Amino acid sequence: MQFKDIIGQRPLINQLTRIIDSGRISHAQLFFGKNGYGSFALALAYAQYLNCENREHYEIADESTQLRSDSCGTCPSCKKYQQLVHSDLHFIFPNTTVKSTDKDTSSKDYMAEFRSYMIENNLYARLEPFFEYLGVEKKQGYINVRDANEIIRILSLKTYESKYKVMIIWMIEKLNISAAPKLLKILEEPTENTIFLLVSENQEKILSTIRSRVQMVPVKKIKDHDIEQFLATHQSMDNYQIEKIAQAAEGDIIEALNIIEQKEQDILFAELFVTWTRQLFKLQMHSLSQWVDRIHTMGREQQKQFLLYALSSFRACFLKTIAGVTLSYQLDFGDEKFNNAFPNMITEKNIEGIENVINKTIYTIERNAFSKIAFMDLSFSISKLLKK
Ligand SMILES: [Zn+2]
Repeated sequence: MQFKDIIGQRPLINQLTRIIDSGRISHAQLFFGKNGYGSFALALAYAQYLNCENREHYEIADESTQLRSDSCGTCPSCKKYQQLVHSDLHFIFPNTTVKSTDKDTSSKDYMAEFRSYMIENNLYARLEPFFEYLGVEKKQGYINVRDANEIIRILSLKTYESKYKVMIIWMIEKLNISAAPKLLKILEEPTENTIFLLVSENQEKILSTIRSRVQMVPVKKIKDHDIEQFLATHQSMDNYQIEKIAQAAEGDIIEALNIIEQKEQDILFAELFVTWTRQLFKLQMHSLSQWVDRIHTMGREQQKQFLLYALSSFRACFLKTIAGVTLSYQLDFGDEKFNNAFPNMITEKNIEGIENVINKTIYTIERNAFSKIAFMDLSFSISKLLKK
């Protein structure tokens, strides 16, 4: 990761490269700020710059918007850093046992997955989706004693190819209390030419004894303008939408991308919902089974999300019918005629029944039922209820 690929944060970056250039490098630093502000990406770019064999320096007019220097991106060290495979670059992160085994794990067991997940997400990643990626989303993950032992083992190795050995500890707030004494001792007795870069979303959850041993590097929100610029070059949306999303994201690029994903999903679900409910009135088998085929190709999780969407849409329609209350964001199906006419079909005669059959379908889908049958059954039930 070169600094040029970091979204915004120019003043902080210039401050960091100036310190590195001066050679006054602290042996342990804590980059704290949300992952979506770029705290992990910054730590990585910092380490790459530190070890770059050919740092570049630029003549600039404005330090607040331009970079004064960067790593080259092409020397052997940079190339390995960009793939996260440099032999003097080490990662420790929260981990937990996989579903199939109960063996005790450490970061080492997930290193390949960690590297590919981080690269896929351009180093802007959150812990929960990473755990989903590992298939351990229902578990609590920690940086544990085995990780602390692994750090000690790594510190005892000589540096292979560069001046600095870099140890990046992601989400240090997940340090298990039992591993804390070992890590404290390590931070207390710095090893020559080893740099610890701790990364945290929430520095208040970090033990104060650890905080007192590191130099603090606050990573602040990304400026709206920088998020807008990033979205304008990476997404096809008009300026108005981009501005709205940047505002809602509050300086967090992961949040901005999540909002976009959610919007895209809402548009897809609205269209599926309109197509579906129209067919339920006519109950034409051919077009209904085409619809069911479409649903069938979606993943189980998305099927469940669609059912939750349908549930809240039916409820919003009912609210409009009985109380005239419109929660506009829930009642925009992207079709004016449908928006006006459909809510009237949902009354006290059918809402309870509709809720029951949808909840029942969610339950069966969660239990790996064959989705074609489940959605066909659901369609027949709701079709009957709509005619009440
Ligand atoms: Zn380089």
